[in-house]
This record gives sequence, C-alpha cells and structure tokens, in this order.
Amino acid sequence: MKSILTLIIVNKVYLKNHEEIELIRESSLIVSKTLGMLAAEIKPGVNGLELDKLANTFIRDHGGIPGFLGLYDFPNTLCISPNSEVVHGIPNKKPFENGDIVSIDCGVLKNGFYGDHAYTFPVGEINTQTKKLLKITKESLYIGISKFNKNNRVGDLSYSIQKHNEDNGFGVVRELVGHGIGNSMHEGPEIPNYGKRGKGKKFKNGMVIAIEPMINQGTHKIKQLSDGWTITTLDKLPSAHYEHNVALINGKPQLLSTFRYIYESLGIKSNEEIPFLKN
Ligand code: MG
Ligand code: MG
Repeated sequence: MKSILTLIIVNKVYLKNHEEIELIRESSLIVSKTLGMLAAEIKPGVNGLELDKLANTFIRDHGGIPGFLGLYDFPNTLCISPNSEVVHGIPNKKPFENGDIVSIDCGVLKNGFYGDHAYTFPVGEINTQTKKLLKITKESLYIGISKFNKNNRVGDLSYSIQKHNEDNGFGVVRELVGHGIGNSMHEGPEIPNYGKRGKGKKFKNGMVIAIEPMINQGTHKIKQLSDGWTITTLDKLPSAHYEHNVALINGKPQLLSTFRYIYESLGIKSNEEIPFLKN
C-alpha cells in the first residue's frame, strides 16, 4: 500500500513553543469552520465534488491554503470517504443518499503551519448500528485525548482508543495512524489507535498531535483501491473517522480544533470539548 507507507515521511518530534501552537490553532480553526460550513450542505443529492469546491473557496477566503491539495500528489482539497471507505477517498460526482455516512477530512496550511481534522457526518436518517459506530468512534477520540498528558506515553493513548472500540465489537484499523503536526502535515510521533499501556514515546509539553481513530463496524482489515488512494473496509461494512488537533500545555491536553461549528450548523448540543478547552 504505497500511499500508506509513504504518508508518514517525517517521524521526528518537534516540540512547539507558545507562538507556534497559536499558529497551528489558527490553521486548525480554519479547518473547523470549513467543516462547520460543510455540515449545513451535506444532504441527499449533494456530491463530494461540490463540497470540495465549496471547501477550497472557503479556505482561501479565510486566508488559508488547502493543505491536502497536491500533498503527496493528492488531487483535491478534501478527502471524502463515504460508507465502507475508511479514509483518503477522492471526491466524485456520486450523490449522497439518505442513510449514508460520509467521513470528511480537511487540511489547511497558513503561516507555515498545518491544521488537519475530520468528522463523519450522517446523511439524513441512518440505521441504529451505524449510529452506534459514530457514537463510539467519537467517544474513543475524546478518551484518547484525555490520555494525552505528561504522565502518559503513546501506548496509553493508543490502548484506550483500541479498548473502547473493541469492547463495543468494532474493528480498529492498524495500517493508518494519527501523527504529530506542525510545519509538516505529518511529523512524529505516530499515534496508532491500538497499542500497549506504558509503551512508546513519553508525552512532553509542546507536543502537538492529530488523534484520529479510524474504526470499522466489522473487520479491522482494509484494502486500497486501484486509484492509489481510497482505503476501504475489506468486508464492505461502514467505517468512521474523527480527528482533532491537540497540544500538550502545562502537562494537559488542549484542543486546537473544535467541532462546535459543526454542532452549531446541525443544532447539536454537546459539552464533550469542555475538559480540553483553553482556560
Ligand atoms: Mg486528517
Ligand atoms: Mg491526520
């Protein structure tokens, strides 16, 4: 799987100072607002290419550059991965249908720093089992974020995400991982969604990472389509993906990205981010 193996090209960990973290926050927030804008547009009959165009314009209007476009030769602004597609889907003209889920991953570059986060949207009314997949995957993201503190190592975070999903009968994708983020979209450390407690790199103040569980309703096994990008589940069952950018400040995790613009668009009330906000 060429594109997977070559995605993490820098594995060095760069600790960021206050100014650098604020610049990453600025880029992350443009992604957050982009996802919030898209949330209002996602409905049956709309297609991914239409969303891609909207996102490209929106990002540039907000002073950013689409971070995925051209990165490793990716052809679009957004990765749009419906239903059994896990990640790295290329936007196309196939209309979304009632009952679909659509994972949208978006990157922005501004002032030399990247933001990168993702959300899985239901289209219209989705079935109970898929609702549970979205709920548990997103819960595991926040469980993982809570483990990003000065007392822990990568394995503690990874294990917590794996456990929550596997306890609920879901498959945890192994081949794709979260990552450090900064001047590069992908820096060290790698943040797998499975692992062993007490193992891996120790977390330090100034680390900024993208935590991104990719969780399958069935088998954890995946395959890559012949377009060289799209990753799908092997059993064709649905897959969900949520991603936040998080900085370690004074020993504790602080969110740089937010889903609040999505929730405002969709009329959802949530207090999930409160423990991780800037204070
Ligand atoms: Mg992403
Ligand atoms: Mg990422």
